[in-house]
Amino acid sequence: MENQRGKGLSFARRIYLPRIIGLGVGFFSVAAALYPLHMPNWLWALLVFNGFIWPHLAYQISTRSTFPYHAERRNLLYDSLCGGFWTACFQFNPLTTVTILSMMTMNNVAAGGRRLFLLGALAQVAGVLLGCLLFGFKFSLTMTQIEVWACLPMLTLYPLALGMVSYQLAIKLAQHKRALRDLSRTDSLTGLLNHGAWKDLLHTRFTRCRDNNTQDILALIDIDHFKTINDNYGHIVGDAVLRELSQALKGLLAEGERAGRYGGDEFCLILPDQPLNKAEAQMERLRQAMDQYRHPDVPELRVSLSIGLARFQPSYSDAVAWLDDADKALYTAKHTGRNTISVALSSPG
Ligand code: GH3
Ligand code: MG
Repeated sequence: MENQRGKGLSFARRIYLPRIIGLGVGFFSVAAALYPLHMPNWLWALLVFNGFIWPHLAYQISTRSTFPYHAERRNLLYDSLCGGFWTACFQFNPLTTVTILSMMTMNNVAAGGRRLFLLGALAQVAGVLLGCLLFGFKFSLTMTQIEVWACLPMLTLYPLALGMVSYQLAIKLAQHKRALRDLSRTDSLTGLLNHGAWKDLLHTRFTRCRDNNTQDILALIDIDHFKTINDNYGHIVGDAVLRELSQALKGLLAEGERAGRYGGDEFCLILPDQPLNKAEAQMERLRQAMDQYRHPDVPELRVSLSIGLARFQPSYSDAVAWLDDADKALYTAKHTGRNTISVALSSPG
């Protein structure tokens, strides 16, 4: 419900400025067409209201409504009704009629597609009938120079305003699309790449190593006895440990590099081509950093890591073979007492 209200509010806000501009400049087009017809004062008052007060009133009505979207759609239909009404009042002066009705139709299509177009057309017809009922069904087909000039601001400014609004909407949509894409690739707890996204990265780096003849180093990092940490101190503490390790991993990365959470308490990253002992030293610093970590509520907690390293080999048929080697190295680290770094047998120094 709140979400729906939020969407309705942004819809109302989006329409506010174009309505101020459209009805503001539309006032002059209608006024020029009405002027020669000697209409009653109340009609002029209504025109002033419609041109300059209604946009703000409409905005207040929709933003204060429980359902701003529906209120705003109703407002758009009032706009169309008034548009039809004015065309009958100025006796269907051709250029002004086409200007007013087509601009309103454009607005309705932009705001609500085919449905609002049809409803808007019906509202315009109702407005025309109301105008004819009050002032008769008359035609004034000749146009003065002033009437032509008075339509020009409407014909230029209003499409400009609507175009700007559409452009801003397209930019916002692109931003949302990007944010959604990032979200779908991110592990929500740690902010690292999630399993799927990291696998994609692994494939990309595999191809790059093969094509460029480089030998990046794949690291798999697993927290020792993490289940016991959860069991002894609870999942909140467990989560804090996962976040701490993620932060430490981010600190290791070069600009533009990303680490991943392979799943549970297992993390992964790809270090650039370098001597193996350098990569080992980097992982050793990570291991020590986590060894030094103290949780404020449970200072007795100690965290150790097992790490498996595998350098890219040109003989690998695919990325899975690379990952498999890193996994074997991690397995070795686990089975040689944990809290250590192990290098895959296939990786030369
Ligand atoms: P080992 O030393 O062999 O790695 O043992 P381990 O206990 O670390 O490994 P195991 O695979 O048995 O346990 C991993 C645990 O991680 C089990 C699961 O409950 C926990 N876990 C997985 N995801 C999360 C999470 O998001 N938050 C927390 N707190 N725990 C998680
Ligand atoms: Mg573990």
